[in-house]
Amino acid sequence: MTGGDNPTLAPIPVRTVETTVLASRALSDTGFELTLERRDIHFHAGMLLTIHSPDPTEDRDYTIASGEQDPHLQILYRYIPTGRLTSRLVQLQPGNPVRLSAPYGRFVIQDPRRPIVFVATGTGIAPCRSFLRSHSTLQLTILHGARTPQDLFYASEFSRCQYHPCLSRHTPNPQYVTSLLQSLPLPPNAHFYLCGAYEMIFDATQTLTSRGIPPTHIFTEPYYYHSIL
Ligand SMILES: Cc1cc2nc3c(=O)[nH]c(=O)nc-3n(C[C@H](O)[C@H](O)[C@H](O)COP(=O)(O)OP(=O)(O)OC[C@H]3O[C@@H](n4cnc5c(N)ncnc54)[C@H](O)[C@@H]3O)c2cc1C
Repeated sequence: MTGGDNPTLAPIPVRTVETTVLASRALSDTGFELTLERRDIHFHAGMLLTIHSPDPTEDRDYTIASGEQDPHLQILYRYIPTGRLTSRLVQLQPGNPVRLSAPYGRFVIQDPRRPIVFVATGTGIAPCRSFLRSHSTLQLTILHGARTPQDLFYASEFSRCQYHPCLSRHTPNPQYVTSLLQSLPLPPNAHFYLCGAYEMIFDATQTLTSRGIPPTHIFTEPYYYHSIL
């Protein structure tokens, strides 16, 4: 399902740093953006950081939502009231310390010259934003699944892309990225990036495969099981 590493991307050593919250911003009822001091952390767009907790079983991964050249690190997270880490992230204030390790992950752009079709649910749009902020000439088609218009995070930044919002609470006709993917004309020679709920990634991979997309052109980053909530 997942293709190989991009050989042109140099490996970056992982560092653990004490950093500081610069801003915490609600983008919707459940979507929050946290801005952190960068502390010379380098990364390739699509990579992750781990936020550490006093209890290591509560360490959690977040895709870096800011761009490679941005002055700060940003993450986009969904606040889960019963969630062990996000219920504490949402209380962070500017000036609070955060310990993190970065960068991790392989969900990076394999070939920036190819068209990219990015399929995301919820906060799975974070790496797509980093892709675009890091590579201004990308040819991007975006399918973003969200519950409500407020959860279409960063939509205004995607105006120069082929942007397809899909609202699952749209009445009377709920919209799903997986349904749209069955009929949407696909750019030739594209690479496909799927990020968010496991169920979407499973369904979208099946659809793409049935449409003749080779598995080596599909890259995936699962965040969570939707059905558990
Ligand atoms: C590689 C990777 C990258 C990730 N990047 C992000 C990111 O950029 N933004 C982000 O919000 N999350 C991301 N996650 C999920 C994140 O690591 C945490 O699992 C999430 O924030 C919940 O942590 P918690 O301790 O608050 O909840 P927990 O107490 O661990 O669990 C709460 C429940 O919420 C579900 N859940 C977890 N994440 C989400 C989500 N985003 N939306 C809906 N339900 C969810 C889980 O399945 C679980 O049932 C990523 C996960 C992985 C594996």
